[in-house]
Amino acid sequence: MLLIDTHTHIYDPDFDLDREDVVQRALDNGVGVMLLPNVDASTIEPMLKTHERFPECTRMMMGLQPEEVKGDYKQVLGLMEKMLADGSFVGVGEIGLDYYWDRTFEKEQLDAFGVQLDWAKELKLPVSIHCRNAFETMVKVLEEKQDGGLCGVMHCFTGTHEEAKAYLGLGFHLGLGGVVTYKNCGVREFLPELPLERLVLETDAPYLSPIPHRGKRNEPAFMLDTAKRIADILQFSVETLAEITTANAKKVFEI
Ligand SMILES: [Zn+2]
Repeated sequence: MLLIDTHTHIYDPDFDLDREDVVQRALDNGVGVMLLPNVDASTIEPMLKTHERFPECTRMMMGLQPEEVKGDYKQVLGLMEKMLADGSFVGVGEIGLDYYWDRTFEKEQLDAFGVQLDWAKELKLPVSIHCRNAFETMVKVLEEKQDGGLCGVMHCFTGTHEEAKAYLGLGFHLGLGGVVTYKNCGVREFLPELPLERLVLETDAPYLSPIPHRGKRNEPAFMLDTAKRIADILQFSVETLAEITTANAKKVFEI
């Protein structure tokens, strides 16, 4: 069985003491490929190092995460654009909009998001999109930018059925993570109605651990718990779910 974690931050300092073990446990639990989304200028170096250490089972993305869009974002984007040109990245991410904690840089977030969506189109790369408290603006931007040349994943999708339909209608995949194992997660109710060919799995490690690890540091190996839960809900085997979601991830990210 091969699972692909389409969004994981195992380069994070949280894993500095046991990264080797974390990767080994991932492989032992069927998670054979891990996609690393970038966050800001400071995460580039640890991400590159992690990929260098584990070149077989990791792939990198490049992008500026919306919560890290600050006054200097144009400079940071300049650096990232240069790096993207060398072809070492399988996607532009993570990018998006986050109005949850702080709306100080709302305009800058919008600008940075638009610029990075344009890169993805120019380079024909998929995107990994982070969206929190920004659904309406998100859809507006994606509608504007979608000309058939955009594809990618709404990472850690936890929205409503209507929101899911909007993203699917715009051509995006939905990234399902640990939150789907939580009892209060609404996605569980309409999960059987979602098109299987548009679902991919992820952990967003070190965040959002699935049950029974909730509250602890998340890691790619725990994606098996999420996969089992989703397979249960859909009433097929975890092997079948792995086959479907892995094929989807390979197709979107061309890996
Ligand atoms: Zn993330």
